[in-house]
Amino acid sequence: MSLGPQRLLGFAFASADLLLEITQDGAISFAIGASEALSGSAETALVGRAWRDFVDVRDRMMLEALLSGLKDGGRGGPLVISLAGAADGVERAASMTAFRMPGNAGAISCAFSRAAAKETHGLHDKAKFETTAAALIETAKTTGLELELALVEFGGLAALRKVLGSEGSKELEQRLTAAICSQSHGGNAAAGLGADRFALVRQKGEGVEALVQRLIKLVSTDASHGLTATGRAMGLKADAPPAQVLRALRFSLDNFIKDGMAGEASLTIDEAVDRSIKRTLVEVGVLGQAVHEKRFQLVFQPVVNLKANSALHHHEVLVRFGDDASPYPMIRMAEELDMIEPLDIAVVEETIARLTADPSLRLAANVSGRTIVSPAFVVAVRSMLAKSPLAAGRLLLEITESAAIDNLALADQHLKALRGEGCVICLDDFGAGAASLAYLQQLTLDIVKIDGRFIRELQHGGRESTFIRHLVHMCTELGVKTLAEMVENTQAEDAVRRAGVDYAQGWLYGAPAERPSQPEPSVPSPPAKPAARRVGSVDSWG
Ligand code: C2E
Ligand code: MG
Ligand code: MG
Repeated sequence: MSLGPQRLLGFAFASADLLLEITQDGAISFAIGASEALSGSAETALVGRAWRDFVDVRDRMMLEALLSGLKDGGRGGPLVISLAGAADGVERAASMTAFRMPGNAGAISCAFSRAAAKETHGLHDKAKFETTAAALIETAKTTGLELELALVEFGGLAALRKVLGSEGSKELEQRLTAAICSQSHGGNAAAGLGADRFALVRQKGEGVEALVQRLIKLVSTDASHGLTATGRAMGLKADAPPAQVLRALRFSLDNFIKDGMAGEASLTIDEAVDRSIKRTLVEVGVLGQAVHEKRFQLVFQPVVNLKANSALHHHEVLVRFGDDASPYPMIRMAEELDMIEPLDIAVVEETIARLTADPSLRLAANVSGRTIVSPAFVVAVRSMLAKSPLAAGRLLLEITESAAIDNLALADQHLKALRGEGCVICLDDFGAGAASLAYLQQLTLDIVKIDGRFIRELQHGGRESTFIRHLVHMCTELGVKTLAEMVENTQAEDAVRRAGVDYAQGWLYGAPAERPSQPEPSVPSPPAKPAARRVGSVDSWG
């Protein structure tokens, strides 16, 4: 039995709103369907025009990559693309698939169905990609769509960027983004994970090697540039619940970011779930033990008083687990698993011991937003201070925003109690989280520490200096001092000084070190019997 062209069209049209045929030179040679509703222009107006006119400029390179990556007999998509602005100004989007029929002079048949307008164009960052991928995996559980995570690592990109210079590199980045997105499910499920590593979710089918070869061709316009790439895929058919799937995705991406293709690969997401759970269990054990046996070290970073010739004011105490690496991942995990309080208590205990041993020190210990709402923490600090009266008045507590404070009223009650014990209260990472302003409004604070991100951006002349000036102004009115972290050079120092910031911390004054640096003679040493003083404000520290 032979199918006539009419009948074939009927099949194709059954699942689409509009069919287009695109010739090799990019012209629309055939159009049928509800083009007016889809694109805002009648189908007769489409024939003879370039397909590019039909597609929003933000998605042209991506569609071009999809089309030029197709071989005879090859299928591509679905890609959700924004359509070019119609006369009525309404933003429209369509989901399209493409098929290059063999023996049709390279022409490509495209089927379009109406889709919701797109929120983003281009590559996601890691966090957005994780949630996007997890949502796709959830949907696939009901639709039965088979998806895979493809991880691709390019070789020679850095050299190529150098050869191309800044203009050429910009174009290269656009080509890279378009190529990677064009191969992802919906055109909107891909991420950049550093300079030469990428991840995308796509339908399972051809091997990952074919994808890699296609990407090289799409990205490199000149074979002599010697661009290479390697890839691996992980099946995304999951039985595990969404939270575990998300954690496993994070685990796999973190491994890839850390070790690239050299790292350990998982074949399926359920395998990755298994491995991530095992690793978490190991880490929980390690962390629990480290806290229990006090197998952590403290390092000390100086904080200076900008209003007193940058004299040493105090040190921030930062925890280290065995190596010099940032404790942040471990801290985040401890917060997620509700294990941060014992660590915070252990660090404060050790900090108080240091204060007792050296009466010239003032130290700031970090306390998680999770911990500060715990009554047991307040009880613990109170009893530790009672046993070490020499330390009173010299202990600062920095409330970090790595975990959100879920009960501000309770947190404030605790802060007031701790201030009553002579602790100075600092809000860390101000501006990093969504709730900073609410914290400033509802918590009784002595110092606000402006998140390092704003300070580092200062040098690029953005809007940060305005932000910081206004923040300082607001804090002054509230009677709260300000501290700038990550002051790395004199430009940053000048900028924060001009903004009226009180204290500063950062590489410029010293990195975290095993021992506190020696206080300058100009800093008055605290009174011999500070316990007698009720130090509620940092002012009395001079
Ligand atoms: P944080 O409290 O905001 O600490 C400042 C971080 O910035 C430290 O990273 C420090 O090494 C780094 N830093 C200091 N100066 C500069 C600079 O000039 N430039 C740059 N780029 N970085 C600078 P670290 O030690 O990796 O700590 C990361 C985070 O982990 C801390 O951020 C804090 O939120 C948390 N943390 C550390 N120790 C503890 C602890 O004992 N308990 C709790 N709950 N959290 C802790
Ligand atoms: Mg801190
Ligand atoms: Mg901070």
